[in-house]
Amino acid sequence: MSDLLVASGLVRAFGSFHAVDGVDLTVAEGTIHSVIGPNGAGKTTLFRLLTGILRPTSGRLDFDGDQIGGKPPDVVARLGLAQAFQTTNIFPRMTVLESVRAALVSRHRRTRDMLSWFHSRLTDEAMEVIDRVGLSEFADVESQTLSHGDQRALEVALALAMRPRLLLLDEPTAGMSPFESQRMVALVQGLTRDMGLTVILSEHDMDTVFGISDEVTVMHQGKVIADGPAAEVRANDEVMAIYLGS
Ligand code: ADP
Repeated sequence: MSDLLVASGLVRAFGSFHAVDGVDLTVAEGTIHSVIGPNGAGKTTLFRLLTGILRPTSGRLDFDGDQIGGKPPDVVARLGLAQAFQTTNIFPRMTVLESVRAALVSRHRRTRDMLSWFHSRLTDEAMEVIDRVGLSEFADVESQTLSHGDQRALEVALALAMRPRLLLLDEPTAGMSPFESQRMVALVQGLTRDMGLTVILSEHDMDTVFGISDEVTVMHQGKVIADGPAAEVRANDEVMAIYLGS
């Protein structure tokens, strides 16, 4: 299995404070890789470095052979690394279908021959993405009226509209009922199994983490303190006792 994303010695400083402090991370294509750690560990900062929202202070970041460290978010997204963001509140009155169509338009905006392609294909392509996240029956529903779980599924759909190879999910099951969490887990597993998508996720719920992940990276105070196959990390008593409170 080839490595899709490789971070080497990645650092992000805010003044003299290193929120991400020399992180090495290797994510194999087609796997689900969780990044966990207590609050303040540096997970969000790491995600912002991966998506280009923040520039690394030093270190390397390679995505499929491209050095992406410091490249702007739109460039990184076009290369195939997309994050699902909590964006549904921005256009609360747009329907699910309109939202996903808008995301597809943004992906295609540089294509010259898109006008002819547009009208015939856009709805079909949007419905395919909507179906993939299980929202077909809500296509014509305003996003503001969706349940919390369905809004998060829509956010995944908006990211999938970028046709990414690597999807970043920041706490995908946060605030969800057990039923909604199970559906999100099944959705993420399906993306990897059926579409070969690679997923990096940050998650607080340890049952979800160890139920879903191939690999787990544990961060603490900006550093990686454990890293490996999920079963190995779970069996690391020191990590589990000190950092995960179990
Ligand atoms: P996590 O997502 O694991 O909770 P964060 O990446 O959000 O951790 O934060 C890591 C540390 O970096 C925290 O101590 C936080 O206060 C600090 N930090 C994050 N962003 C900034 C910023 N823009 N300026 C200063 N400090 C920051």
